[in-house]
Amino acid sequence: MIVVQIGRLAEQLGVHRNTIRNWIRSGRLPARRVPGKRYLVDEEEFIKLCHAYGLDASALQIRRVSAASSPLSEAEENWDAETVLIPRSQGPRLLVQGVSVCLTCGSCAGVCPIAGVDDWDPRKVVRMAVLGLEEDLVAASWPWKCTLCAKCEQACPMGVDITGLIMAVRAARERDKVPGALHKGVVTMMETGNNLGIPREDFVACCEAVAQELAEEECPGFQVPLDVKGARLLVTVNSKEPFAEPRGMKHWWKIFYAAGESWTIPTENWDGVQWGAYTGDDEAVRLGVGRIVEAMHRLQVEELLLPECGHAYYAVRMALNRWYAEESRRFRVLTLFDLLKDYIDKGRIQLRAQPFPVTATYHDPCHVTRKSAKAFGKAYDKEAREIVRRCCAEFVEMVPNREDAYCCGAGGGLAALPFHEERVFHGRHKAHQIRRTGAALVVTSCHNCRDQILKSLRKEYDLSVEVKLLWELVAEALIVPPNARQGEII
Ligand code: SF4
Ligand code: SF4
Repeated sequence: MIVVQIGRLAEQLGVHRNTIRNWIRSGRLPARRVPGKRYLVDEEEFIKLCHAYGLDASALQIRRVSAASSPLSEAEENWDAETVLIPRSQGPRLLVQGVSVCLTCGSCAGVCPIAGVDDWDPRKVVRMAVLGLEEDLVAASWPWKCTLCAKCEQACPMGVDITGLIMAVRAARERDKVPGALHKGVVTMMETGNNLGIPREDFVACCEAVAQELAEEECPGFQVPLDVKGARLLVTVNSKEPFAEPRGMKHWWKIFYAAGESWTIPTENWDGVQWGAYTGDDEAVRLGVGRIVEAMHRLQVEELLLPECGHAYYAVRMALNRWYAEESRRFRVLTLFDLLKDYIDKGRIQLRAQPFPVTATYHDPCHVTRKSAKAFGKAYDKEAREIVRRCCAEFVEMVPNREDAYCCGAGGGLAALPFHEERVFHGRHKAHQIRRTGAALVVTSCHNCRDQILKSLRKEYDLSVEVKLLWELVAEALIVPPNARQGEII
């Protein structure tokens, strides 16, 4: 077996890195994702493919490993290792090894929605890192205005890890100088288990009150299964819901009820959101995700569902790969797309035929499409479209879409940062795309994206559209069977 890194391999072979990704995705190049943004590839298959494309594999410097041995050392598993060296105690320093290949071509700046804000752009960030201007980088506010959407990386012909560099810059800042509420949320999460500091008893009371409402309205006998040992699914929650939108929790609960699912929510450390992944606080992310791992083991659950937010899914999965590879082999991480598709395909839930007589469009969150494709080898873009088409009279695409989609403008922690004007400016592409579709309904699958479009872009860009989360759409389209009941607990 050989270990390859897409950007480097593309550079060595003289092809675009998307070409290599396409080989892997299509199965033409059988490869297994391993930590550190690398792939394990069968050497013979690789050489065959190079021959088929007239490429010279013998000229490559490749690293061979035994298939039976651990593919990467601990140091190599650190995905930031090539870009970052941070101990804040030693002052801000960035190791620029991974960015020195920059050609200064400007492709990154050309696609960045906030290029020009403050006279900055991603190329400038990369060049400053190469030139050793770490202190200026760390002091600047622009790296905090970036949504980490990764459009720039997608465009970069050299595979420069631009978002990794921006995270390194953020991580190098003194914690008391982190802008806005982000660091406060991180500290609160470390102290209480969720970033809004909701006490256990309040969370339990809130869940029980919402469950009672749901039982009275649509799901007779419904009870919220808290801390249930041996359930099939452990479901995390976005703290925004019990704090400000508790009725939003009913959508998933109603779906679980109709599907007869066996599921549970832990009453402590239930928050899937990891704001440390926005501030570059590895210690906090490791702690937060470690608590989820601990809950999986304590409650003996087989599958983890991170249903509430593209960010939570991405941050938790990255952290599992990085720090809990061994422990997380004992359970499976499900996306909301896997689960909903499975329910529909297996007939576990029934939807009314096109209950929404409107034209709808779908907004692809960066974390589950472009970033998921790069980090985990799969973009979730088909499943949501199938569901929206099923529920709505007409479906129309925004252009560009899927892995090429524009960020809504609220990623990277921007929703909790004091850069309102920049967030709205960033969202202009999304607003124009939505308007051009003529759709009356925008569906998405991330809380952050939903809030940005619903609560900000609609007002700022005068859009007359409804906005729904994918699981909200499903819950509203659901036929709740009269004989539905809670899933059986083993
Ligand atoms: S991640 Fe997005 S916002 Fe940040 S520099 Fe790249 S393109 Fe610009
Ligand atoms: S796209 Fe890549 S190579 Fe070109 S300027 Fe940006 S970082 Fe450098």
